[in-house]
Amino acid sequence: MSGFAMFQDDDGMNQPEGWALAQGGNLLNNGQAARGQHAAEVLLEGLNPPQAMAVQHTQGPLLVLAGAGTGKTNVLTRRIAYIMLTGSAEPRQILAVTFTNKAAREMAERTERLVGHSVAGMWLGTFHRLGVRFLRQHAELVRLRPDFVILDTDDQQRLVGQVLADVGLDKEQFPPRQVSYMLGKWKDHGYTPDSMPAEESAQLHNRAKQFYAAYQQRLTELNAADFGDLLLHPLHILQKHEAVRVQYQQQFKYILVDEYQDTNGVQYQWLKLLAQGHKNLCVVGDDDQSIYGWRGAQVGNILRFEQDFAGAEVVRLEQNYRSTGHILAAANGVIAQNRQRHGKNLWTEVANGGQVELHPHTDDREEARFVADAIGQHVRGSRGQSVGKFADAAILVRTAVQTRALEEALMRMGVPYVVVGGLKFYERKEVRDALAYLRLIANPADDLAFARIVNVPRRGVGETSLAVLEQGAKALALPQAVAIPHVIAQGDLSSRVAGALAQLHHQLGQWRMIAAGSTPDALAERVLEESGYLAMLRDDKSAGSEDSKVRLDHLKELLRALQDYPDLPSFLDHVALVTDGDADTDDTVKVMTIHAAKGLEFPLVFLPGFEEGLFPHQRAMNEEGQKGLEEERRLAYVAMTRARQRLVISFAHARRMWGQFLPGSPSRFVAEIPAENLKVVGGMTNFTRQGYAGGGFGQGQSGGGFGGGSNFGGGGYRAMPGSTADKRSTWKGVDAVKPAEPLVAYRNPVVAPVLDGDVGVGMRVFHQKFGNGRVLGMEGSGEARAYVVEFAKAGTKKLLASLAKLEVVG
Ligand code: ATP
Ligand code: MG
Repeated sequence: MSGFAMFQDDDGMNQPEGWALAQGGNLLNNGQAARGQHAAEVLLEGLNPPQAMAVQHTQGPLLVLAGAGTGKTNVLTRRIAYIMLTGSAEPRQILAVTFTNKAAREMAERTERLVGHSVAGMWLGTFHRLGVRFLRQHAELVRLRPDFVILDTDDQQRLVGQVLADVGLDKEQFPPRQVSYMLGKWKDHGYTPDSMPAEESAQLHNRAKQFYAAYQQRLTELNAADFGDLLLHPLHILQKHEAVRVQYQQQFKYILVDEYQDTNGVQYQWLKLLAQGHKNLCVVGDDDQSIYGWRGAQVGNILRFEQDFAGAEVVRLEQNYRSTGHILAAANGVIAQNRQRHGKNLWTEVANGGQVELHPHTDDREEARFVADAIGQHVRGSRGQSVGKFADAAILVRTAVQTRALEEALMRMGVPYVVVGGLKFYERKEVRDALAYLRLIANPADDLAFARIVNVPRRGVGETSLAVLEQGAKALALPQAVAIPHVIAQGDLSSRVAGALAQLHHQLGQWRMIAAGSTPDALAERVLEESGYLAMLRDDKSAGSEDSKVRLDHLKELLRALQDYPDLPSFLDHVALVTDGDADTDDTVKVMTIHAAKGLEFPLVFLPGFEEGLFPHQRAMNEEGQKGLEEERRLAYVAMTRARQRLVISFAHARRMWGQFLPGSPSRFVAEIPAENLKVVGGMTNFTRQGYAGGGFGQGQSGGGFGGGSNFGGGGYRAMPGSTADKRSTWKGVDAVKPAEPLVAYRNPVVAPVLDGDVGVGMRVFHQKFGNGRVLGMEGSGEARAYVVEFAKAGTKKLLASLAKLEVVG
């Protein structure tokens, strides 16, 4: 989110060279008009009739309500080009809203290709980006200066904490993170301290209004805006200042909005006001792709469009141009299960192509390796000749936690990738904080790491005290963490600060002592616990603090990653390489969350982690019930419809998640894909040893494992709680296959180690990191089961059976 701070105000841009249309009200001379008309006709070539109609119907309100891949964004882009080529408006008179910055860039590029010159000056971008641009021009109307700063999430929480204290509210009772989230919701709805409804102002011990007002006052004093303000301030300016409102209503001759189904209350009101002038508002969207309900998006906005704008034209597009027949049918099959929908009839002329592939895996690491390997094969081709590009492929995940294993596998196989729209795992704040502690333990001179954690969690060490420490350390020529006792002795620090710093110093010393004798993960866990870092996140429970739960998840994931390393320095080296290693070239695999992939398309799409609890996500269902499940299903629909030619879904029977080794059963969404569109593909050869042969998923055609094609055993899925598969009778062989034993085992929360049965004392084994070795002994049982293995290169190690993932080689 802090990316918003990078937004530039581009109003200062020069008029583009070669911009021939923009001279005064009557834009074109006759020769140009003729050329423009001809170009506009060329523009319509290849469009189907409803698309062409939507492009040309520029006067009056227009709604394009259509499913995925039917060309909505294409229509919007051509419409902009059409408006410009017919001389109907200059770029600055067009307001076009996209959902991501990337989408905005793509739209600008495509429009420029279509019209043959720059579109600089156009109001094109996300709501937030446009909000910043608007606000910089009218900052004084909300008592800001044009150079106001945009707070990032951390800053905002710090400020919330201060204001809570100012108005006498207990931070323990009302954790700032949670209150920030609440503030965001108020702002998404367009509430001000004065206009918030009674149930909201009853929050915070009935002091919500007072808090909100004080918070806004502090922002004004700081000359700052938070993310919510970037939308809310512009709305208020339009509401309160008629002159400004009229100016923009006049200026924006054409307004276009992509992904309209995901607009929230304040965005909706802002658009509605702006469109009152010319009423040339064109919105496109798909109610089946509404995936931001949890952030205040109101799908009702799109369904109400005809009431909001009298005389609105509604265009429906039904031909999908993106995906093969199988992919489209699979996605349609899934979304059809939602009750809350209007229903659409999508078809495609694209050939059927291959069926959607379903790859079961023993665990997440095997899944990650498979994905990386499949991408490698796509690029290399089967006979070594290059057939595809890395950029063809996208890996879409339900939650960012999944990316680490994938990133590591991609890296290991030398597959270039970028994580789009999100931080890489090791760049996340909480992960960086934890690493900073570890770095400081490994290297007391790491002043940067020290600065990062000295007050995280809060130790009451303010900037003044830090300046004293910094000066003192400099004078002594010592690193800050080392200089603490000396600076305290000089007596320039308050006793409270001195006490806090002395304790940190003491703790660092202790951690350093135990570092040599403990495994990196045990050390890290202890550090996070004793420093109070985990407590800081845990204390921030209850509704709305999704963020801190996710952060805790990331830390658990970090602890798990640490288990693979014999000592701290080798892990830190590894991390340094992870963060430095991935060059951002164009031909890269894209890794992103499904949310970030909205509107995009790729020839080859991987959807790992199709497991109950992960997708649909348990949290969404716990908190929102059926509504939550339907939003998850829309998310699955969005994910599947990103694929053009090949869609590969996978799940793992066991996944290291949130610091545990959890059993996984296939997502109910898999069972909702019509059998004829789905093909189960091997990948489980080593599983046959585990008793999968002839059981479980489909009666093996190849003598074991997961059979093939539509023989995919419905029985296994039918047995799953909550699966809708049992309602479907279309599955071939649904009754022929008994639920498989292993699935039952995997539902058991105490996970049997995947290969436990195979590993025995004396066996030769292979470990991903440590290489070849021999099993010397076994200890414990159940989750605590451990192997003692003597590795040829790495020496003797004790490894938890559930995590070690040893492969038996003889
Ligand atoms: P989403 O709902 O995922 O945002 P969309 O409705 O916006 O999808 P687009 O991205 O505009 O769909 O189009 C999907 C694909 O179909 C693109 O590759 C686009 O170039 C292509 N396409 C759209 N219309 C046509 C057409 N008339 N002829 C050929 N290809 C088309
Ligand atoms: Mg689109």
